Amino acid sequence: MVEIASTDRVFILTGAGISAESGIPTFRGEGGLWRSYRVEEVGTPEAFRRDPRLVWEFYSMRRRVASAAKPNPGHVALAKLERALEDRLFLCTQNVDSLHEQAGSKRVTHMHGELFKSRCDSCRRAPFDDANTYEPPAEIPRCECGGRIRPHICWFGEVPFDLDRIFQALEECTVFVAVGTSGVVEPAASFVAHVRRRARTIYVGPEEPANKFAFTECHLGKAGEMLPNLFPG
Ligand code: NAD
Repeated sequence: MVEIASTDRVFILTGAGISAESGIPTFRGEGGLWRSYRVEEVGTPEAFRRDPRLVWEFYSMRRRVASAAKPNPGHVALAKLERALEDRLFLCTQNVDSLHEQAGSKRVTHMHGELFKSRCDSCRRAPFDDANTYEPPAEIPRCECGGRIRPHICWFGEVPFDLDRIFQALEECTVFVAVGTSGVVEPAASFVAHVRRRARTIYVGPEEPANKFAFTECHLGKAGEMLPNLFPG
């Protein structure tokens, strides 16, 4: 169990691994969603300019997979922890699914965007809820301004969302917990290095991450099995 004092502020960073037991494949793992697509073809702004149909085909497939998924005990444990700590918990996810929210988490920062939102590629219209799939022969959706509608996702080469709030929460935290993230994708991979001199740093996942040197504790195991015991609420 991770001891949390009444003065502690906890920063949790989750990655694709926390949703693996819910049936959403990780980025690099076996059966990864990305195996049959190349990142450059579906996960960059250039790809969307070049072939928006292929990009929407990929994100339509991801929407279908994610809408069939249910939160697992790992998501539920973190939602319980939020109820106990209230605003002393900052939950930052690299995931674009909505499983944290479905488990009951109220304040989730999606630094890489949200799969069930879209936005206009041209105008300043705010991102909006969108669970539709757009697959050929369907047309690429268009905004009232004429611009193309794109998934509300931070693609490779784009700047993640909410970095100011995230770095403020990193400054304030005394306990940092990363769950199910390989420690490779930046800037999230460097968050632990940012806090390690003044916060306890804990990793939870079945294998050691690439940045394991920066963690004071590594709890090896699946998120759905480990988190309910580490954070019983
Ligand atoms: P990654 O695929 O690089 O690494 C996944 C990590 O999860 C690995 O370290 C693996 O050991 C671990 N893992 C596997 N099963 C686990 C389990 N049951 N419990 C805990 N950990 C487990 O993922 P990443 O580091 O998050 O980076 C990949 C990028 O891909 C992110 O930017 C993310 O936005 C995106 N992505 C998101 C989703 C999603 O929204 N669910 C899914 C795939 C990829």
